[in-house]
Amino acid sequence: MSTALVLFRRDLRLADNPALAAACAGHDRVLPVYIHAPEQEAPWAPGAASRWWLHHALEALRRQLAAQGTDLHLRIGNPLDQLRDLVRASGATAIHWNRRYEPAGIASDTALKAALREDGIAVHSHAGNLWHEPWMLATDAGQPYRVFTPFWHNLRSQLPEAAPLPVARAREWLRVPGSLPTAAMGLLPAIRWDAGLAEAWRPGEAGARELLEIFADDAVADYAKGRDLPARHGTSRLSPHLHFGEITPRQIRHVLQERAGAIDARQRPDLEPYLRELGWREFAHHLLFHFPHTPEANFNPRFDDFPWAPADEAVLARWRQGRTGIPLVDAGMRELWHTGWMHNRVRMVVASFLTKNLRQHWLHGARWFWDTLVDADLANNTLGWQWVAGCGADAAPYFRVFNPYLQSAKFDPDAAYLKRWLPELAALPAKTLHEAWKHPAALAACGYPAPIVDMAASRDAALAAWSALARE
Ligand SMILES: Cc1cc2nc3c(=O)[nH]c(=O)nc-3n(C[C@H](O)[C@H](O)[C@H](O)COP(=O)(O)OP(=O)(O)OC[C@H]3O[C@@H](n4cnc5c(N)ncnc54)[C@H](O)[C@@H]3O)c2cc1C
Repeated sequence: MSTALVLFRRDLRLADNPALAAACAGHDRVLPVYIHAPEQEAPWAPGAASRWWLHHALEALRRQLAAQGTDLHLRIGNPLDQLRDLVRASGATAIHWNRRYEPAGIASDTALKAALREDGIAVHSHAGNLWHEPWMLATDAGQPYRVFTPFWHNLRSQLPEAAPLPVARAREWLRVPGSLPTAAMGLLPAIRWDAGLAEAWRPGEAGARELLEIFADDAVADYAKGRDLPARHGTSRLSPHLHFGEITPRQIRHVLQERAGAIDARQRPDLEPYLRELGWREFAHHLLFHFPHTPEANFNPRFDDFPWAPADEAVLARWRQGRTGIPLVDAGMRELWHTGWMHNRVRMVVASFLTKNLRQHWLHGARWFWDTLVDADLANNTLGWQWVAGCGADAAPYFRVFNPYLQSAKFDPDAAYLKRWLPELAALPAKTLHEAWKHPAALAACGYPAPIVDMAASRDAALAAWSALARE
């Protein structure tokens, strides 16, 4: 009778899970395992919002396994020691996992695989969370891509057509003593600031499926326009579920295509703009794999000489707390604090404001997002921050400075988003909010702070700094 362990990490699902499916198909008994070892992910161990998500996602997975009459075996500690112990206790001869792509994950999995193989264990790693492994695509010259559009054309022409795998079931699920309750990991905050997260999200595979159904029914048809309007649910909001592997790009595409196929051709939604966004996620992983230093360092080394302003704790605190006096920036930062998520357009605006108007280094922003986003993802976050700051691959040109007033007038014309997140300003007309610089007394009377910085002067200063760098 052969026994295998399946090690869950960022693949917290039972369906379309190649590691789990292979273990169930190839072995008589399967033991599903999760090992909590955040130090292995340093210096990007999960932040507070991700820890909240992880707790609930693991609880959801445990409930799913309970419905199959078993449990997730949960351990805390060094993965090699824990796995060796579990191999002894279970008699397993094989271990299956889906690959991770962050530099720390790759390093620890490589070492783990070598040590376990020396022990005589068959270790199988699988591709489970992307359309394509990050090293599989290359330019004609055999180099990594640095520009999105050719990357996407290449990827788009070879998206995998195989149907997603069904929910895996073992012939026999194995249980061994020593599993801990999820609470033992201490992932939930001691001071309960998480009510807004609980209101906004349902971590786990069922929550992902529910959001996908809503998106497929409703928003996908108007995605090209709706995705820019922060007051609407015009995007899928699947990012945290994708990060934790509760759903795969393959499943998403399959469901969207099935739905579209059932609709009359003249009314069929165009799925391309949405698939392209999933393509950005693949591009981010491609970049992180080939340029693993970029979570901490400029992709474009020219920016190493950029004259960032010295880190200013008071300024950073006002940005984090949504008290900069710039309505769209503050609305976004408060949405982030309350729900653990922020609309993409607003992410670009708050990031531009921090790195250009306040000229604070992009890493301050990346670290705050890392702690507060439920979808904090090293590949996507690094790409997003470096793109906005102008120092990344295929980046927005540095001289593109988002104007938060024009952005809110264009994408939130009736100020529904601004008023939702800045209730103290809800009584003011939308026009007053989009032209807040003209009405300082009206905003001050609502108890709203004056702008932390002069927008025009700070924009000019950022452009001057960039021009000096460009001349060097
Ligand atoms: C400064 C900054 C930081 C960001 N940090 C993160 C992060 O930590 N984690 C994260 O998942 N996304 C990040 N993004 C990208 C993007 O904002 C989010 O993926 C998106 O808002 C998630 O919402 P959604 O699931 O409704 O997206 P949808 O519009 O429904 O898109 C579907 C999926 O495509 C992927 N995607 C969409 N846009 C991008 C993009 N620009 N780059 C990479 N992947 C994308 C995401 O996985 C997303 O869930 C960041 C963007 C910026 C500008």
